Amino acid sequence: MRYNDSMARSAEHLRAALPLMTKQRAALHPASYAVWYEFVSGSNPKLNQALQIHTAAGHTLDEAQTWALYREHVCDLDPSLGGKIADGFSQVLDSMAASASQAGQESARFDSSLTSWVEQLLSNPPAQTQADVLQELLSGTREIRGALSELQQRLDSSQGEIHSLREEVQRARGEALLDALTGLANRRAFDLHLQQCTSNPPADGELAPCLVLGDIDFFKQVNDSYGHAFGDRVLRAVAQTLKGVAAQADKGGKGSHRDNQDNRDKQANGGNGGEVTIAARVGGEEFAMLLPSGNLQQAQAMAETMRSCVAASRIRRGDTEQDIKRVTISLGVTQMRVGECAETFFKRADRALYASKHTGRNCVTVLAAA
Ligand code: GH3
Ligand code: MG
Ligand code: MG
Repeated sequence: MRYNDSMARSAEHLRAALPLMTKQRAALHPASYAVWYEFVSGSNPKLNQALQIHTAAGHTLDEAQTWALYREHVCDLDPSLGGKIADGFSQVLDSMAASASQAGQESARFDSSLTSWVEQLLSNPPAQTQADVLQELLSGTREIRGALSELQQRLDSSQGEIHSLREEVQRARGEALLDALTGLANRRAFDLHLQQCTSNPPADGELAPCLVLGDIDFFKQVNDSYGHAFGDRVLRAVAQTLKGVAAQADKGGKGSHRDNQDNRDKQANGGNGGEVTIAARVGGEEFAMLLPSGNLQQAQAMAETMRSCVAASRIRRGDTEQDIKRVTISLGVTQMRVGECAETFFKRADRALYASKHTGRNCVTVLAAA
């Protein structure tokens, strides 16, 4: 469990966090409280460092900064999970080590018994002694067989435990690379894929990867007008559209359709192998599509499909039939230049996106690599 402070201690943290939280520009929502609660409890040193930088010289946090800190330092993979898994592994290994050492002791004892029985047989051959010795030999053999079969059972059950721990590690790794709200690849996964693209340049005759960045227009107004929960629904709906566009590209683009689960598994494991389009949420209301290979026209067409699908979609408010203002998205598209770093590639797509913002939003801008 992430929080296990007593009632008194958590009340102290509440008293300390409230005045800090109310000084900020961000609204007083649970994510904001989680950030300041962890700050005053001192339980999250990386968050404290980041907050000290953000609030230096009297600066205050706005919504986007608060959410970014929340996502990066609070709403992350449960940090105790790694420890729990490691503890699980070491318990299993300890139990295997104990079994092995017990079997080792039994076999050493059996070995010394055998040696002394052989010596007795050689020096004292009467029939009665042979019968006694054989009796002992038999019971010694039974003991060692018992120990070995116990060792076998424990090894079998240890193997089962190791297998389920391994699955848990894989699941945790997958979750650490997925965005919890939308199920898309998260920023960390996206950065890994981008890095992979720039460090494995296309072979001769292959096309370079293309990047589409999108940012929902006036999303703050959506939150302000209809509430944060509705904003989250919009984010999920845009993510669904993005997934659809990426899957369609993989199906049609290269004639090698892979089913979604396969794609998700590959993305979650941080591997792509240059085969599938990565759909990611790279910021609060910012999305990306990384096409492993293609040309700018294809990428532009995908961005245009994305733009028109979002503009055409109608997201109903659950509680009323009230019509909401149309949601639109601006996009920027570019292609990787061989030899450039991930940051330069990303920044060019970002410049294309911001050109779309400046030319009236709800449009696509393409910036070819110079
Ligand atoms: P622009 O067209 O220039 O992009 O304007 P904008 O309002 O979309 O951009 P701005 O950066 O001013 O606001 C982004 C908003 O996104 C602010 C923040 O509250 C919201 N946001 C960020 N993450 C989340 C989230 O996870 N859920 C919700 N509901 N809102 C979020
Ligand atoms: Mg933005
Ligand atoms: Mg925006």
